[in-house]
This record gives sequence, structure tokens and C-alpha cells, in this order.
Amino acid sequence: MEGRADMTPLHFRPSGIAVVAVLAAAGGTRAAEPPRWWLDEPVRLIQTNLPETFSTLDSDRLLQEVADFPANTLLFNMGGIVAQYPTRVGFHYPSPYLPPGRDLFGEVLAKAHARGIRVVGRFDLSKTPKPVFDARPGWFFRGANGEPAIYNGLYSACINGGYYREHAPKILAEALTRYPVDGLFFNMFGNPSADYSGRPMGPCQCGACKARFGARFGRPLPATVQDVDYRAFMADSAREVAATIAELIHRLRPGAAFLTYIDAHTDVIMHESNTSVTRPLPLWPYSASDNVERSRGSEPGKAVFNLCMSFVDFPWRFVTVPPPEIRLRLWQNLAHGGPPALVVVGTMDQEDRQSLIAGRSVFRWHAAHEDLHVGLQSAARVLLLAGEDTAAYRGWFRLLTEEHIPFTVSTHLKWLEDPTRAQAYDLVIAPSGAGPELGRYVRAGGRLLFAGASPPPAELAIGRVVGVRPPAQGSWRVHDHGLLPSLRDTNLLFLDGPYVELAPLKQPLLTLIPPAMFGPPEKVWVDKVETTVPGLLLAGLEAGQVAYVPWDVGGLYHRHSSHGHAGLMRDVVDRLLPRGRQLKTDAHRLVEITVMRQPDRHRTLVHFVNLSGHSDTAYFDPVPMRDITVELAATFTRARATVLDEDLAVTGEGRHRTFTLPRLGAYEVVVIGD
Ligand SMILES: [Zn+2]
Repeated sequence: MEGRADMTPLHFRPSGIAVVAVLAAAGGTRAAEPPRWWLDEPVRLIQTNLPETFSTLDSDRLLQEVADFPANTLLFNMGGIVAQYPTRVGFHYPSPYLPPGRDLFGEVLAKAHARGIRVVGRFDLSKTPKPVFDARPGWFFRGANGEPAIYNGLYSACINGGYYREHAPKILAEALTRYPVDGLFFNMFGNPSADYSGRPMGPCQCGACKARFGARFGRPLPATVQDVDYRAFMADSAREVAATIAELIHRLRPGAAFLTYIDAHTDVIMHESNTSVTRPLPLWPYSASDNVERSRGSEPGKAVFNLCMSFVDFPWRFVTVPPPEIRLRLWQNLAHGGPPALVVVGTMDQEDRQSLIAGRSVFRWHAAHEDLHVGLQSAARVLLLAGEDTAAYRGWFRLLTEEHIPFTVSTHLKWLEDPTRAQAYDLVIAPSGAGPELGRYVRAGGRLLFAGASPPPAELAIGRVVGVRPPAQGSWRVHDHGLLPSLRDTNLLFLDGPYVELAPLKQPLLTLIPPAMFGPPEKVWVDKVETTVPGLLLAGLEAGQVAYVPWDVGGLYHRHSSHGHAGLMRDVVDRLLPRGRQLKTDAHRLVEITVMRQPDRHRTLVHFVNLSGHSDTAYFDPVPMRDITVELAATFTRARATVLDEDLAVTGEGRHRTFTLPRLGAYEVVVIGD
């Protein structure tokens, strides 16, 4: 695949610095880094996740179907639980269905490369057949009862055991030296908390885990995987193994990528948009947007592949979710700078063809407009922090999306160390508490909105904390409708959860009405009292501005979608934005709009994803929209709607420009520039 290098005359860093390339053939002067196809080339990925019985598949037919789809990257089974090539490494077994003399992986790889299709080899190191366990029992996961975890005859290896740490590098070295793969992907990287049937596995009690955990924390392994120390321990264990594998891949196969579901040491961070019949509602319709944005925002130098899983849940691997859901996920991937990526179990000859038919339309779009989907960076000026509290985070994620406030996401605070990045944000939103680092950020001139019932650190002390109060079903009285104009038609918001009690304010914005009698109607609020306990604080803090909502408004919005909560969130955000909104529009709230940059091409892309076909657990084709006007805080002279294939009139002066999108189906991208 070395011949591909001439396709990437520029080498881009999504952190915002375009580095002029590299390639001697292109006349460059720097050749230190191998090309990164996963960042620099358009990717359309299909994963055919093979049961071992598929070792006899027709590789010509498969590659023809992949090429016709049209995909240009194939994620294909290589080794681990089952090798699809005649491996010669011990404790690694070719598929029992692989015909004698056949090298399925090698055959698929050669035929794919001949067609210009990249191949990522799939490994799963989390389980092995019984003979490995019999020979090396110390390498394996042990439950609380000391027994190994066996699933369909396979034994779970422990991330801290010898299989992952000593033997896997031998398996991978063979794979990497024998095959010119474009990358290796690892399924199930680390010790899962539950098996495929959903049965909890508990913390591993193997000798290696006992020794490592004891040495680090000075206590025995905990009883639950939710233990904070154990979770940190497991995450670090995965990172240690990832470091070894990354080094191996980059040394033995320069230019190949390391892909798995963790941030550390990977080249491509993997995610899945999937469903489960046991997952609690509400359904999360922004799954793909969230997955891609969260990792792109957290690790701007890496690619993010969000796999769209076709199946309903594990017991129904060959039955697909609704076709509009497949398309929505793929459009969301694109709108946030990720590639389309679709997974089927088996080959592309499916009994339920709905997922492939649905996904093909997005792949065709991508193939016809590759240039629009390479090197994208978020141009958003609001940063949402993703923490442990998923409900609070999702509430804010959805609110910002519905408000058409462009935002990016970070799972950490490393961006604080990059002054360029820290200054690029008009506002940082912390949905469930804030640490001292953010206090220092505010004092240096940053703007922060934080919420949640955990007391703020001293660095963010804008009110005196009286105490943390247990969950209460009370209300908040709205005092200042001038400052909270969205609440003009209500004096009350509801509280259902804990809160931090702060000392009273001179000029209250919201005050607590504690729980009072609610039945029978004759007794409703007969005992009601009003308090001076504040439900919102706004303050300047040295050079910065901060807003604190001392209760979980994001989590409540996620669960109940109260317009009162939305109005509060909206007004506080608007209060804090120093330059007003980056984007103003009359688009329906179910139209997701992202603003992305292509720095190398000196242009901005405004993506529209129409979510109006979603209702409860159902997905239908979205309702067509008309005449969506968008005003951007940007100067440009041209706007072109790519799906409509129409130039749009640009109006406005000063620092703002406006265009109107005449029609929106499922997706649109408007390219703006000069
Ligand atoms: Zn272990």
C-alpha cells in the first residue's frame, strides 16, 4: 500500500496546525512520520464480523460486495479467539473450518489491496480455547469463587495475565510481520464487567490482579467492579497492554494503525452505536454524534471510528434495527468528522438486508463527496465536559443540540494546558460539578457554567455552602424574569433530587420551595413555605464569569424534557456567552447543526442532520424541512448546499453572514468560504 502515499500531499494535525508534508515524492522535506491513512484519507469502513464457520467464504464475492457498496476499508477477522490464517504460534489456533492450505486472511488482504481497499485485522485476545487454560491456568480470569469464566467453551483471559502480557505480543508479531495490514483492531480490550449474556463477572481474582492491586492500593481486591480504585486499576491495566501493542504495531508495520475502544496509545479510537433490549429508556438518539464528538474533542490528534452495529442485541445478531436509525447514525458520524462505519455479522449476504440497504445510501454520498469528509475539526466555541454522570451530560448535550449552540466535548481537562485551545472557548459547561482547575481557568478570564449537587471547590467559591441536602421533590421559585426571559410564563421549576444549600443571596434568582403536601387536592401546598435557599448563582470571579446551578438540571432535562429546565439552561448559557451566539437559526429543534472547519481547504462546513423521524423507540424517515435560515458569526461570501447542489445567497455585514437553506431532507452540508 506504499503507493498510496502520493494521495496525501498534505499532512494535517487536527489540533489546528497544518504541517506541510512530508513526502519526498511530493517534494517535501520532512519524512519522519509515516502517513496516517486513517486521518488523511477518506475512510468508508465495513466490518464483516465472522463466525468461525465462515472460513470457507468466497473472498472474490466478498471483496466485490465491499467495493460495490462502496467501502474502501474492510475490518476483517484475523486472529485471537480464532485465527483465519495458518498461524504457527503456540496457543493460537486456526479456525477449525479453515480448509487445509487456505489462508483466508492473507487471501482477503491481497485481493483487497489489489482493489485499493485497506484492511484492518480484527483480534480478540479476551478469550481462548480450553487447551491454553489447561497449559497456563495462571493467565486467566478468576471469579470470586476462584473459578475461571467460561463462555461457550472459551476461557476469559485476564488483562493482567500472561496471555495478554507475554503471549499476545508473539501472536501479533507473527501477524504483523507476515501480513501488510493497514491496522489491527482489538475487540473487548480488557476485562469486561459482564459476559455476552449479561451475567456480571465481578472483579478478577487471579494471582496477577491480587498482586498488582495489593501493591498499588494496599488492600485486597474489592467485591464489585464499581469500586473506584478497581476501575482505575482496570483502566490502567488496559493502558499498559495498549502501550505494548502500540509499540509493536508501529515498529513492525509503520503506517499501520492501532484501533480499539480506549483513548490511550491508539491511533483510532473506536466506539459503537448499538442497542440492547435491556437498556433503560430514554433511548439516546445522539449516540453517534456523542461518540464521535466526545473522542474527537478529547483527542484532536486521533481519528474516531464509530461502528454502527446493525443488530438489535446479541441474541439477534442477524436482525437489524430500523433503517432510518442506521442512516441517522451514519449521518451523525459524518457531521462530527468521523467516517461512515457499518458492521454486519457474517458476510454481506444477509438474511435481513435492511441495514446494508440503508447504509449504502450514506456510503454512496461519502464516495461522491470524499473531499468534504477529510481533515475536519470542530469550529465550536462552547466546550461541554463529559463526566461520570451520564444523565447530566446527556441532558446538556441534548439541550445544546436543540438550541443549535455548536459545541465540542472533552472527557478531561488537558486542554487547559494549551492556551490556544483554552482561549478558543467562549464558555465551558460542567454538567456535574467542577474541580479546582476550572476555578483557576475562570479566574484567568474563562467563563464557566457548572451544575450538580456536589459542593464547589474553594477556587469556585461564589457562595457559602451550608450543606449538601438529600434528594427532595420540591420546586424553585423564579424571581428574576428579566434575567431569565425564557421563563416568562412560569414562576416555578421542579426539583427532583439532591441539592447544595447555599447561603441566601441579596438578589435571589431562584429560591427553594421545599416539599409540601400534594394530596388530596384539598391539602395541596397547604403547608407550603418559601425559603431563601438559592437555586442559581451568577457571579464574576476575578477576570472571569461563573454560573452555578446547585442541583442536577441536566439530569432532570435528560429524563423529563421540562421546558422550564430547558429555558433556565438556555438563559444561563446566553447570559455567559460574551459575544452572543456563534450561530442563530430558525431551524426546528430536531435539526442537529454542527460547524466544522477544514483548515487545509480554508473553508467551513455547516452540517444539518434531521432527527425529526425519531419518536420514543421508533425511527422513521425524517420530516422534510423548508427555509432554514442560519446566521453565523463569520465572514464569507459563498455558501453552497451540497446535497441540493445549489449556491445559496449570502447576506449580512460586519461580523455576521446569513444564508437560507431552502430544503432539508435527512442530511445536508453547506460549504462556506470565499
Ligand atoms: Zn486478573
